Amino acid sequence: MQESAKVVFFDEIEVEMPVITTFSAMMFIFKHTKDLVKYIEKERPADQGTGFVPTMGALHEGHLSLIGKAKEENRLVVCSIFVNPVQFNDANDFKLYPKTPEKDILLLEHAGCDVLFMPEVEEIYPPGEEMTEHYDLGYLETVLEGKYRPGHFQGVCRVMRRLLQTVAPNRLYLGQKDYQQCLVIKRLLSLMHFKTEAVICPTLREAGGLAMSSRNRRLSEQEKIKARGIFEALTFIKEHLEPGAKENVVSQAGDILKRNGVLADYVEIADMENLNTLEVWDGQTPAIALIAAFMGKVRLIDNMIIRS
Ligand code: AMP
Repeated sequence: MQESAKVVFFDEIEVEMPVITTFSAMMFIFKHTKDLVKYIEKERPADQGTGFVPTMGALHEGHLSLIGKAKEENRLVVCSIFVNPVQFNDANDFKLYPKTPEKDILLLEHAGCDVLFMPEVEEIYPPGEEMTEHYDLGYLETVLEGKYRPGHFQGVCRVMRRLLQTVAPNRLYLGQKDYQQCLVIKRLLSLMHFKTEAVICPTLREAGGLAMSSRNRRLSEQEKIKARGIFEALTFIKEHLEPGAKENVVSQAGDILKRNGVLADYVEIADMENLNTLEVWDGQTPAIALIAAFMGKVRLIDNMIIRS
C-alpha cells in the first residue's frame, strides 16, 4: 500500500498530514462556501441522497457514528467542522474548545465522508454583515440550556441556517446527547420551511457511561472517572422514577452527583416533545431526564430517555 493520505485540498488548508497507510476513499475539503456550493450542485445525487453532519471538530466516535448513519442512508455525505463563536456564552469555553484538525481529517476520511467543509469565521459571518436575525424558539429558549446559556440557541440557529442554506441536505444527522439542540434545530427547519429531515442518533458513551464529548479532552483521567456520576444519576432516575412527584428521585440523583464531586446546574425531568418540565409524571407521557453539570471547570451535558 502507498504511504500517503489521499485527501484533496481546495485552497490552502494549513494542516500537517501525518504519513499514514492509504485507504481507497477520497474526501474533498472546502474552505469557501462558493466552492462547496459549486461542488454540491454538480455532485448532488438525483435520488435525494445528501446527508449532512455538522460538528465543531475534535471528533470522537460519537461524531463518527453520525457519519456512519449518514453513509447508510445517503450517497453524498457532507460534514462541517466549525467552532461557532456566536453560540458560546462563555469566552473561556470558546478559547479552550479543543481543536484537532489533522486528526479530524483522517478520521473523516477513514469513515468514508465525501466532503468536509472547514470554513473560517469570516466565511460564515462576513465582516460588516449585520447579525440582527432573531429566531422565535419560544419556551425552548428559556429552559435548561436556554436558561443557563443565554443567547446560545440563537447562535446555534445562526450557524445552522447558514450551513443548511449552503449544503441543502435531504437529511441532517444530530446527536441525542444535545437533545434540546435537536428540538431547537427541528424548530429552525420548520421556521425556515427547510425540507431537510432531522435524524436523531443515539448517544455514544465511554466504557463506564460517560457520554463522549469533545470537552472530555479537557478532563483529567481522575475527573473522567468522577464524571461517570452523571450517567449514574441519569440511570438512577430511569430505574426509580414512578408516576407521581419526582422530588425524591431527583434529590437522590443530585446526591449521586455530589458524591462524585460533580456540581449540577440542573437535574430535570421533562416532556420529550417540548421539554416542558414535569413536576408530576403520569407514567405515560414520553419523558426524558436531563443533566448539566460541572466537572472541575468543564461543563458537561447528558440525558436519558425514561419513556418514549
Ligand atoms: P459537536 O461537535 O459537539 O457540536 O457535535 C456535533 C454533533 O455530534 C451534534 O449533533 C452532537 O449532538 C453529536 N454528538 C456529540 N457527542 C455525541 C455522542 N457522544 N454520541 C452521538 N452523537 C454525539
